[in-house]
Amino acid sequence: MALAQAANIAEKALGHDKNAITKQDMSTFPSGGESDLMKALVWMGKNDVQIGNGRAQAQAGGRSRCYSQSNRKYTELVGRQVHNVEVGKRYVASFQIACGDCYFCERKLSSQCEKTNASNTEKSMYGGRTAGIFGYSHLTGGFAGGQAEYVRVPMGDVNLLEIPEDIPDEKALFLSDVLATSYHCVVDTCVRQDDRVAIFGAGPIGQMAGRFALIQGAEKIIFVDTEPRITVIKSHFKSEEVDVVDYKKLSNSSLSSNTVVSQLKKLCDGRGPDVALECAAGEYPKSWLHWLEMNTGAETDTSEIVNECIESVRSFGRCGVTGVYAGFTNHFNIGSLMQRGIRLIGNGQAPVHKYWKGLLEDIQGGRINPLEMVSHRVRLEDLDKVYHAFDAKRDGMQKVFVETKFSFPAAKGSPTLTRY
Ligand SMILES: [Zn+2]
Repeated sequence: MALAQAANIAEKALGHDKNAITKQDMSTFPSGGESDLMKALVWMGKNDVQIGNGRAQAQAGGRSRCYSQSNRKYTELVGRQVHNVEVGKRYVASFQIACGDCYFCERKLSSQCEKTNASNTEKSMYGGRTAGIFGYSHLTGGFAGGQAEYVRVPMGDVNLLEIPEDIPDEKALFLSDVLATSYHCVVDTCVRQDDRVAIFGAGPIGQMAGRFALIQGAEKIIFVDTEPRITVIKSHFKSEEVDVVDYKKLSNSSLSSNTVVSQLKKLCDGRGPDVALECAAGEYPKSWLHWLEMNTGAETDTSEIVNECIESVRSFGRCGVTGVYAGFTNHFNIGSLMQRGIRLIGNGQAPVHKYWKGLLEDIQGGRINPLEMVSHRVRLEDLDKVYHAFDAKRDGMQKVFVETKFSFPAAKGSPTLTRY
């Protein structure tokens, strides 16, 4: 059973807390008649998504919020208590739902908002809660996702950022999540001048984390991934600023002298990188042992990549974990962590509100270009097929811009439309 379904059942048994000021479990809205039907991606269960009709807010979801992001042109309706959002203007919505005035929101740590998620299951699993998150299971409030023609955004004054006229949708959209997540990973793990930084996972988050690490003054970045991503990396970064390690060509056995860890040591004076950024996730077991343990429920996530991060960095090095981990893991190398003084930092869900204005200025100033990670432009109607293509990494797909019938024509530099 998927964790999301298990969490829903557990929450029904436990009952919600009373902390949330937003309505919970908003996966669908009451009918307003046939006229308010819209197209949305609907999560039916593990590995099963379909295009269906939703109401008012998407019934959408998806296994990972990072797969793709969809786009609607203009704001259409504004609630009575929302004062700074205007009908007809363009806004980008953060992936997290923040209240704007709790302990964490006051400190701009909006991803940990205390008033938008009432899940007792998450609280008992993690010892605390994240904010409510769009399309991210009942652990985070059971809100519908945004892969839809319309999205209803609670507390619009807090959770929407106006898009200036000189910025196309294709660049602004990623302020919602990917840019804040990759930037947060870099600054939260304290990447500094002259650091050598290993980045595990060269997908969109890893790629942008590499860009931000260089902006922070990193001397070199080293991506750990395999084809086709290695070719993409080589085409986007200068050869003098980047190295690559292809994990598929290396052994998983700690007895081998040819592993990811040994390669990273070799590339960094035998000592290892100063920093490792985990931008992959715990859902991909490399060994049979972890495959078995994950499939029998003995653990929810593999510790293999986190262990590689810990073992590869120099003593007193730093490791940041931004790839998604859901629960518990076995065979974690706590010995290396303790004996060698490794700083292991869970970066958490990124607090979008802390960074999005600054990142927007970076886009306007040309310091970052989100389009460099966007490989495909697709139609919302094709999203169910796109998910399977994405999972199979077909056509070099890595970051997807989803257009709806309301979207503008593709902006300059955006990929042309692919139909599935
Ligand atoms: Zn809050």
